[in-house]
Amino acid sequence: MTIFNLGSINADYFYDVPHLPKPGETLAATGFRKGLGGKGANQSVAAVRAGSAVVHIGSVGKDGRWAVERIKEFGVDVANIAIVEVPTGHAIINIDKHAENAIVIFQGANAEQDKGRILQALNGAKHGDILLLQNETSLQCFTAAKAAELGMRVFYSAAPFSVEKTREILPFLSVLALNEIEAEQLCAELETNLEDFPVSNVLVTKGGEGSEWRTHATGGIVKTRAFDVSAVDTTGAGDTFAGYLAAGLDQEMEIREALKLASAAAAIKVTRHGTADAIPRRGDVEKFLA
Ligand code: ATP
Repeated sequence: MTIFNLGSINADYFYDVPHLPKPGETLAATGFRKGLGGKGANQSVAAVRAGSAVVHIGSVGKDGRWAVERIKEFGVDVANIAIVEVPTGHAIINIDKHAENAIVIFQGANAEQDKGRILQALNGAKHGDILLLQNETSLQCFTAAKAAELGMRVFYSAAPFSVEKTREILPFLSVLALNEIEAEQLCAELETNLEDFPVSNVLVTKGGEGSEWRTHATGGIVKTRAFDVSAVDTTGAGDTFAGYLAAGLDQEMEIREALKLASAAAAIKVTRHGTADAIPRRGDVEKFLA
């Protein structure tokens, strides 16, 4: 099977800071790193490192050719990533001494998706393939509708959160992935509880508390604990979890096993600085679990 991912590609700029800046404050960073990021690219890297075949659909500016090269080096198919006339998306990530972060994102080229290119990419999709989506590009709902029509499983991470976008895309989803805050916001906005969401499966991740997977048809809940590790940087933990979980589903793992694999991969990620480059390989995750 193949995982198709309509996803953002960002340049991530990391600054180590003594504390997160207050309004009006100028702070000297104690460290700086640049790397590949964006929820989409992170999820593609996680899924390919978990051993699945991944086709990334996205766009960068002319200043982002290096990012496409990096994604390709990880083993992701980049034939459907366009170079457009808008700067590449980027993120300014401040990380304090407690591994807490504050992030500013510029969407840039990620907003320049093209329907023709998406349809062309999905031409290669088969019934049962997975489509990954997050909320940092344009055309998610268009793509989800087409994928559902093709019999693909649509896995949507509702981050950064938008109630309108989430509400619109719900009918096409196999998996809705939320963190705890997004889950609370969505329940409040839709005036419902998680059990009643009209989606086959809902994943709620709860940081160091682990995660819950709910299956609508049966009402069943699978709770997965987080592994006890020393976190230094939690950026990309959710994406590592989502990409590994999608790969587990793609590889037809039993859900409990897929969730455990995703939890271990995310635990390793939080012990490392960085985003895409810090996502562990499958072999490292299996060693961690052994
Ligand atoms: P981010 O936006 O930082 O990528 P998120 O808010 O989408 O993250 P979280 O719920 O914070 O997602 O984390 C996703 C998963 O990563 C958790 O369910 C857990 O398995 C793992 N994880 C996150 N933080 C920790 C931690 N401190 N220790 C161990 N595992 C963690």
